[in-house]
Amino acid sequence: MSGEAAARSRRVAVFLDRDGVLNQALVRDGLPHPPDDLASLQVLPGAAEACATLRGAGFLLIVVTNQPDIARGTRTWEDVEALNRRLSELLPLDEIRVCPHDDRDGCDCRKPSPGLLLAAARDRSIDLGRSVMVGDRWRDIESGQRAGCWTVFVDHGYSERRPERPDLTVRSLGEAVPWILATASKERVRA
Ligand SMILES: [Mg+2]
Ligand SMILES: [Zn+2]
Repeated sequence: MSGEAAARSRRVAVFLDRDGVLNQALVRDGLPHPPDDLASLQVLPGAAEACATLRGAGFLLIVVTNQPDIARGTRTWEDVEALNRRLSELLPLDEIRVCPHDDRDGCDCRKPSPGLLLAAARDRSIDLGRSVMVGDRWRDIESGQRAGCWTVFVDHGYSERRPERPDLTVRSLGEAVPWILATASKERVRA
């Protein structure tokens, strides 16, 4: 296979943070938290349509989510998996990848580390340079940048440090769809 053909055969992904991008985050003291249980899981307005449009355009939709409550012992894997299963029923996602660690574990998958994105790219032959990371916190944006992806910041105005130089800032995933289609599609034709 020539280099060009190899590049064309690789897939393009939209990496999606979960809480605050696909479903509503519970905001306490200005900071977002995952839903407590299935009953409080609410898909954000426009998220389902956005996912359908992106998937229809050929993007893999891969959720990459930090769930440190597992390491902290306040939530179980089963709790997290139950929410993820439900979300996968509500949205046309290809996969959900979870980091269950906290900072002190020193893993390579907790965002801002790019481990979840790099592993997905290896497993699915994804071209990271033409892919996009969408998130609502600085950790998401930095992980996308370190993986070499385009980055989209969904700004909910949390009381925490803002990400540095995302490629696009929006208020919802739906608002980012035209830009994602234009930007990544252009790259894809050039490759
Ligand atoms: Mg989030
Ligand atoms: Zn991890």
